[in-house]
Amino acid sequence: MKESIKLDILSFGAHADDVEIGMGGTIAKYAAKGRKIGICDLTEAELSSNGTTELRRKEASHAAGILGVSVRETLGFPDRGLFLKDDYIRKTAHIIRKYKPDIIFAPYSEDRHPDHGNCSRIVEEAFFSAGIKKYETEGGYQPHKASRLFYYIINGYHKPHFVIDASSYIEQKAKALNAYKSQFTKSEGGADTPLVNGYIETVLARERMFGQAAGVMYAEGFLTREPFLVHDLLGDEG
Ligand SMILES: [Zn+2]
Repeated sequence: MKESIKLDILSFGAHADDVEIGMGGTIAKYAAKGRKIGICDLTEAELSSNGTTELRRKEASHAAGILGVSVRETLGFPDRGLFLKDDYIRKTAHIIRKYKPDIIFAPYSEDRHPDHGNCSRIVEEAFFSAGIKKYETEGGYQPHKASRLFYYIINGYHKPHFVIDASSYIEQKAKALNAYKSQFTKSEGGADTPLVNGYIETVLARERMFGQAAGVMYAEGFLTREPFLVHDLLGDEG
């Protein structure tokens, strides 16, 4: 059996920058605690209005460095072609088996971009299948059952089920987002998309609202299908 680095957290996105938008602060926070974090982008975002795949690859690697991510993978599924296909589920399950994360994150499925919802469904299927002994994936890794699957929010505002305090990491998050210059900075001759018109400010304003609701400066919001177990209700259980 092959072995590779074991991750604490593995977060999937449809496009490089999805994970940074939804949970860049949380990733920076846990990376700073010495946790091993991975990001897996399902596509190369080749249909983006601005930037080439080469440029996006460079930006993604720069952003991962800013957040302290240990590994970043790209599966190269077709942009706008993220349908619930057996091949995609198997390749995604292979990544889960390869890195054996304790916790997996996927985009929340209610999102104006259909790729984000489709990514969510592929990861849900792979999260389940990766743990099945007789389910076959390439690469020769052992079955792996991650303990939880949580959803981060990309576009818009959804009421989260829980939030993570990202106050001390919000500048790192902004820096990681700014690494995607081709996406979030207006350039001469570039396409005028919703992303180049104050998108980062909107994301940070949302995290400020999540934080305000929970009594901290900035927080990132998450959703879960299963009840979330709280270990330390009064904050004095070590
Ligand atoms: Zn996206």
